Amino acid sequence: MNRVEREKKARITCAACDSLCCQLTVVLEERDTIPAHLTTRLPSGLHVMAKDEDGWCVALDGQQMRCRIYASRPIVCRSFVMGGPYCRAERDEHARQKDRTIALQLT
Ligand code: SF4
Repeated sequence: MNRVEREKKARITCAACDSLCCQLTVVLEERDTIPAHLTTRLPSGLHVMAKDEDGWCVALDGQQMRCRIYASRPIVCRSFVMGGPYCRAERDEHARQKDRTIALQLT
């Protein structure tokens, strides 16, 4: 890993997280014990965490950007690796969208 990669990785911490993964579709497993009012079913039949009107998981505390059911969060959330490839891909895509928005505002 080179210096730039090390610095980029070092910036990904719980304290500096935008919780972007909490906008992804969280597919629940049978072993998950999530209160029913926080979940929904997609037309495909998949049992997932429900989202609010802005696309965030309903279990996310939007003020603190913290999971309100952290201790009993879904298995897929537990296995999501902070700073891992999927996390980095989401962050990169988010940054690209931000850049596009800024570029559009400047034109
Ligand atoms: S359950 Fe918690 S960790 Fe999982 S997406 Fe929702 S807010 Fe994020």
